[in-house]
Parts: sequence; structure tokens; C-alpha cells
Amino acid sequence: MRICLSSQTHSSLPLLNTNRRALEIVWTYAIPEVPMRGSCLCGQVRYRIQDEPRSVVACHCTQCRKASGHYVAATQALTESIEIEGISNVTWYHSSDSAKRGFCKICGSQLFWTELSGDFTSVMAGTIDGNTGLKMDRQLYPESKGDYYDLPDVQPVDQSTL
Ligand SMILES: [Zn+2]
Ligand SMILES: [Zn+2]
Repeated sequence: MRICLSSQTHSSLPLLNTNRRALEIVWTYAIPEVPMRGSCLCGQVRYRIQDEPRSVVACHCTQCRKASGHYVAATQALTESIEIEGISNVTWYHSSDSAKRGFCKICGSQLFWTELSGDFTSVMAGTIDGNTGLKMDRQLYPESKGDYYDLPDVQPVDQSTL
């Protein structure tokens, strides 16, 4: 059973619903099973990826390191293919003029990164439930890595190639 921590959170329990919540429940249960699902730490934000996700790319840039506490490892999919339950619990932080990062406002989990003008959204690989079937095969901004860890053994690439 989930706990409502604010008026904007919602439970998936089909009881005691406002009209809005009933609509959300219909929406939640009407979408088909998909291969990839995930959530934040507290579970108040859940997502499903309908598109076939990209392989995982690591990013050592300063923004990703600050935002994640280490470095980011993210898959990516068409934004319109990602269905988010509990979207009202996602805070979007504009980390640059061209991109924003979505995190759970309750538990703080980093979930998404997206370019404001782009069609794709990166999804933090660590938030995916269960086995992903994906591999981390590339990395960005290795020159910005922290001195306390070694780079993963994958190809450095430029962001423009993704
Ligand atoms: Zn959360
Ligand atoms: Zn980055």
C-alpha cells in the first residue's frame, strides 16, 4: 500500500477516487504490457517505455556528476513512448538552457534527462526494474570524470553522435 504524502500524490488503489484519480487509474491499467518498466526509490513515480530503448551511455560531465552523485548511466527512448504514472511527483530542473532533468520530488531519485527541443528522453538505467537486456557501450566527457574512479572500459564518444 502506498502512502499519500501530499495532495498531489496518488495511490493506484482503485478506492475512494476523485474523478481525476479514476481517470489516472483507467489510463494506468489500459496501457499494454511493455518490456521495460521502472520507478523512483519511493515508487510514487513509475514509468513504462514503449519504444525500444537505446544502449546505455555513461556520462561523466560535471552536471551529471553533481546531479547523480557519481556519474550517469542512461538509456534513451522517444519521449512520446515513455508513459509516466505519478507525473505530478516529478520536478523538472532546467540544468542548462537546452536541457532539463526530472527527479522525484519525494525521494529525490534522478529519473530523466531531456533536451528541450529534442524528441528523446534519457532514462537513468539504475531506475529500471529487473533485468534490462541492455549493455553500457559508450561514454561521454571522460575528461570530466572524478579522480576517485576509473573509467569504464567502453568507447568514448561525442554527444553529437548519439
Ligand atoms: Zn520517489
Ligand atoms: Zn552528462
